[in-house]
Amino acid sequence: MTKTAFISHPDTLLHVMDGSHPESPARITAIKNAVSNSTLKNKLAYYEAPKATKKQILLAHSQQYVDYIYGIAPKAGLVRLDADTAMGPMSLSAVLHATGAVIQATDLVMSKEADNAFCCIRPPGHHAGLANSAGFCVFNHVAIGAAYAMKQYNLKRVAIIDFDVHHGDGTEDIFKDNPNVMLCSTFQHPYYPHRGVESASDRMLNMPLKAKSDGATIRAIFEKKFKPALVSFKPDVIYISAGFDAHMNDPLADLALTKEDYAWMTTFTKQIVKKCKHTRIISSLEGGYHLPSLAESALAHIQQLNSNND
Ligand SMILES: [Zn+2]
Repeated sequence: MTKTAFISHPDTLLHVMDGSHPESPARITAIKNAVSNSTLKNKLAYYEAPKATKKQILLAHSQQYVDYIYGIAPKAGLVRLDADTAMGPMSLSAVLHATGAVIQATDLVMSKEADNAFCCIRPPGHHAGLANSAGFCVFNHVAIGAAYAMKQYNLKRVAIIDFDVHHGDGTEDIFKDNPNVMLCSTFQHPYYPHRGVESASDRMLNMPLKAKSDGATIRAIFEKKFKPALVSFKPDVIYISAGFDAHMNDPLADLALTKEDYAWMTTFTKQIVKKCKHTRIISSLEGGYHLPSLAESALAHIQQLNSNND
């Protein structure tokens, strides 16, 4: 039976940018409730994430930026890092546990204690670059996890699939010159962060999508573009930047995916790692702001991670 780790931490609920911000603690609660009310509840292995260490954060961010974030974290009130991102008194703890979840997931799948893992964490991470916050993101959890896997386990080929509606520009910024990392990213364009179409690298597979693009378009890209690239790259592990804001009901963007598309992309990823003769998938929550759609899509994703029918 497939063993899926579900990793979170209570402090991910305590990072609050302001009362009406769409990147809210209710996102985590919605996913956890959906899991608790489903047959998946008793099938997952639950873990409480440790905090990532500063040394681990430094695997993907500059010393100057990391020192700045640790120094600016407020004891009270909010500090604004950029136009979209702020930190309150519990934000640094939430961020460090979020990164810690991806580190723990990496250890669990590398030691074969779990076949795959889902990190139910916030804030998201994929817009955070080498030396900058952006788009609700402070540290890039998936990039740090991928860098940790390469250093700790001496892996030479790590792939990242990013199906968030926004381009994973921070992840590309961190890995664009690293021959050991492949990024497969689908995103609405033109749209925030208005990047991702200038890439020249054949390891940075950026697939911009026009507004209103649906699941059939995304599935064709996965089959025709991502599959041959991933099969020939033969990743030792695949990370997923799992944003659910390309859902047709999401208020922040304008693509037209459904929960069935998220399940399909998950099965696709399982088939790729199967071809590579392992099970190692580490998925980490990025965006997704329509709570019922986020909950049902994340549930479909985790059910598929846990399924034996691929
Ligand atoms: Zn997003």
